Amino acid sequence: MTNMDAYWMPFTANRQFKANPRMLVSAKDMHFTSDDNRSILDGTAGLWCVNAGHARETIAEAVKQQVLRLDYSPAFQMGHPGAFELAERLVKMIPGNFDRVFFTNSGSESVETALKIAIAYHRVKGEGTRQRLIGRERGYHGVGFGGISVGGIGTNRKYFGSLLTGVDHLSHTHNLEHNAFSRKQPEWGAHLADELERIVALHDASNIAAVIVEPVAGSTGVLIPPKGYLERLRAICDKYGILLIFDEVITGFGRLGSSFATEYFGVVPDIVTAAKGITNGTVPMGAVFVKEGIYDAFMNAPENAIELFHGYTYSGHPLACAAALATLDIYEEERLFERADKMAGYWENAVHSLNGVRHVIDVRNLGLVAGIELESIAGKPGKRAFDCFLQCYEKGLLIRTTGDIIVLSPPLIIEKEHIDRIVEILTGVLQEME
Ligand code: PMP
Repeated sequence: MTNMDAYWMPFTANRQFKANPRMLVSAKDMHFTSDDNRSILDGTAGLWCVNAGHARETIAEAVKQQVLRLDYSPAFQMGHPGAFELAERLVKMIPGNFDRVFFTNSGSESVETALKIAIAYHRVKGEGTRQRLIGRERGYHGVGFGGISVGGIGTNRKYFGSLLTGVDHLSHTHNLEHNAFSRKQPEWGAHLADELERIVALHDASNIAAVIVEPVAGSTGVLIPPKGYLERLRAICDKYGILLIFDEVITGFGRLGSSFATEYFGVVPDIVTAAKGITNGTVPMGAVFVKEGIYDAFMNAPENAIELFHGYTYSGHPLACAAALATLDIYEEERLFERADKMAGYWENAVHSLNGVRHVIDVRNLGLVAGIELESIAGKPGKRAFDCFLQCYEKGLLIRTTGDIIVLSPPLIIEKEHIDRIVEILTGVLQEME
């Protein structure tokens, strides 16, 4: 064993990585520093989560003070002020009539929590047959069994047995023939939402609990919803009493230049899952927002003293709450969501300048997110984008890839010169690549 063997790295080509490790040792604002002392521009806000930029003093101070004041407080049958304060602030921040928030420690846990709340909600209302869940192809909802069951990524599902039963999937909305090089929302594809009608006809609405989608599918390559698509999903869910869940783990906290995607698109789901961005990536935390009436349905159900048999040892962890409160302060004081919105036009033009660059077959963007799709090398899917990732890293830029799609999601504090640099490095690397 070398000193790298013991760690089994998540979602990583372990053998490849350990042969050619990439180690980050520090970070500040828009940059990481690597172990060979190079400055690496963060084109991905870590993993879509460091929205206010790295190493923010006020967050560090808040976490330190919290450790010294109250490091841990039992999550069950006990409370601490930070969790209540944070919940209040969060429900005020999200538009729509969301009035309660449940805390988790990750996006995956938020998804499991949302799916369980949806099924239990129908049951406490006396509609216990509503158990089926509907996800979407190319959806990513974390790695719990619920999340991979409603998720639509074959590789994330195929090794793990029979998964949840009673799950259907809508088609994804990605279509290069109709929508290549669209800016913001593409024109074509709203009709794909009507598949929900077909699934309802097959199973009957009385058996369906919820539909879960990412408003913008991030992890499978930035798939932006076609104009009218989310509205149609909402209308069909309303027609049949099906709960609509938006998985906003990526789109929450300013990524689209709005607080949440529900604000950006003006479509209000019944449940919203969140995580990334809530603590600026510093302390693991997730949250599930429910709209008015859902919490009350549980409180009014006479069955049990404990209304929801669900929760985590670290739900509403004092350190996570302290980090989140300090993060929200930064978002508000620096008006970072508005800033992202203002920067989004420059971002759009910059990333679309990659149209015409070698190997690029699509560019799509919204807010401070972009997906750049490359033509795959025959028989080697994903290789071209991964080689691009490696070469960008050598040149001082961190990008992310999924299949042959490059995904960009920089911290919201990004300046125009950083955007120019991202595009310059990418263009150079792609033009030189075979
Ligand atoms: N849902 C979505 C939409 C995500 O993008 C992610 C993470 N990429 C998750 C859930 C899972 O979050 P986590 O990795 O924190 O469990």
